[in-house]
Amino acid sequence: MPQFVDTSPPGQCIFCRLVAGEIPAARVYEDALTIAFMDLGQVNPGHVLVATRRHAANLLEITPEEAAAVMQTAHRVARAVKAVFDPPGLTLLQANGREGDQTVFHFHLHVVPRHQDDGIALSWPRKDPPASVLQDHAARLRGALSGAV
Ligand SMILES: [Zn+2]
Repeated sequence: MPQFVDTSPPGQCIFCRLVAGEIPAARVYEDALTIAFMDLGQVNPGHVLVATRRHAANLLEITPEEAAAVMQTAHRVARAVKAVFDPPGLTLLQANGREGDQTVFHFHLHVVPRHQDDGIALSWPRKDPPASVLQDHAARLRGALSGAV
């Protein structure tokens, strides 16, 4: 995960300044709700960030319309990355909160071209709980979803 952490207040964060044109960026695509630009770090060539145009800290603060727009932009960008860089793999990564490895607190989604042995890693510590635990978790989530507007 990147070590850079942006601690700017909302409205002055680096992505808000980028959207406003106050700092340079290698822009790829823009529409009413989203902006896509090259990640400065370029984990692999063609690494693009898709961000909401409006400042929202994370996934829980964007609207359903913004969520849909972000995925549509990521889909468009992914197809362009495939056409230009032709990576054999591609990973979407979206981090929320410091514990979720978020470093810039303005919603964004990484579109990352992937190659064999490219050094990117995500540990995945399976817990494999019994089915009864899964059913309990699902019931609790269904309850939360049915209560949602
Ligand atoms: Zn921002």
